[in-house]
Amino acid sequence: MKDNEVAIVGGGPAGVSAAIYIKRYGMEPVLFEKDLIGGKTNYTEKIENYPGYLGMKGPILGEQLGEQLKQFDIKPIYSEVQSVFLNDDGTFTLSYGREERTFKYVILANGLSERPYHLKGEESFNRKGISRCAICDGPFYRGKDVVMIGSGNAAFEEANYLCTICRSVSLIARHEEFHAQEDVVSKFRSFPNAKIYAPYEAVSCSGNTSLESVTIRNGKTGEEKELSVQGMFVYIGAMPVTGFLQIPGVANEQGFLKADPSSMKTAIPNLYAIGDCRDTPLRQVTMAVGDGSLAATKIHYDYLKSKKGK
Ligand SMILES: Cc1cc2nc3c(=O)[nH]c(=O)nc-3n(C[C@H](O)[C@H](O)[C@H](O)COP(=O)(O)OP(=O)(O)OC[C@H]3O[C@@H](n4cnc5c(N)ncnc54)[C@H](O)[C@@H]3O)c2cc1C
Repeated sequence: MKDNEVAIVGGGPAGVSAAIYIKRYGMEPVLFEKDLIGGKTNYTEKIENYPGYLGMKGPILGEQLGEQLKQFDIKPIYSEVQSVFLNDDGTFTLSYGREERTFKYVILANGLSERPYHLKGEESFNRKGISRCAICDGPFYRGKDVVMIGSGNAAFEEANYLCTICRSVSLIARHEEFHAQEDVVSKFRSFPNAKIYAPYEAVSCSGNTSLESVTIRNGKTGEEKELSVQGMFVYIGAMPVTGFLQIPGVANEQGFLKADPSSMKTAIPNLYAIGDCRDTPLRQVTMAVGDGSLAATKIHYDYLKSKKGK
């Protein structure tokens, strides 16, 4: 084990930011990513609220984060971290693939995972009409009728994009009050092909070889409607994943990782949590990159202090 190495679990905006700062401080980031560098940004149509970028396409931001790693000669390990274990001497052992590696410092930047969604009949239409990524699959529904399930920012933002390519977009919201910013909701309402069903929930879907209709039910009256659609996009939020973390006392009751906002330190020395996986009031790219830079700075400070003490 080299004591200047820092393991970073997750290569989304938070993990990449931490890796860049760690490298610039002269330490060695070891970045693990199980999917794509850039994390959730790869699945976002447009990011309009990241200062300095004018309406940037999410996947382009993801690509540039990867390019920036290359510029700093940071080569991610493309593997899923299966466990993080705290050793008796305070170091951490990470297992991935068939390998194990021990680190003094670990930053958890593993984001969130999509909340499961179960709808009667849905199993038959995964990838045949049901999608969780408008940017990836939206173009398959060009000129077609689709529904969006969800009423948060992500649901409205991605529905706004779908309105520009689909014949109609019906947004199904459980409650009449939405958890989304007013400007995003207003934009959706401004599209002539947009319609909101609230308070409604989807109860079943059907079709022959691919999705043909979704039945929705009014939460107040119980009245049901069958919408003829070819696509259904599900944006009902995400949830934390902590199964791989074999260390008690780091997550709160909901599974979000507790970290001191002034340092990103968890209750376990040398273990940090940043970005969406953290117990934070806001989950956005701006927060993720800020968390990453702060964790790296604190680690560097601790590292220098430990060297001086020797
Ligand atoms: C549809 C949508 C639209 C959005 N729009 C905006 C927007 O307009 N503006 C904005 O600021 N934010 C937006 N967000 C939120 C933003 O994408 C997130 O806040 C941000 O990506 C969080 O960064 P992160 O690095 O914490 O997590 P993530 O981006 O989720 O990255 C986590 C990474 O960790 C990896 N990982 C997870 N577990 C492991 C493991 N065990 N081993 C190895 N790798 C692992 C994942 O593969 C992933 O790449 C949007 C999100 C969504 C879903």
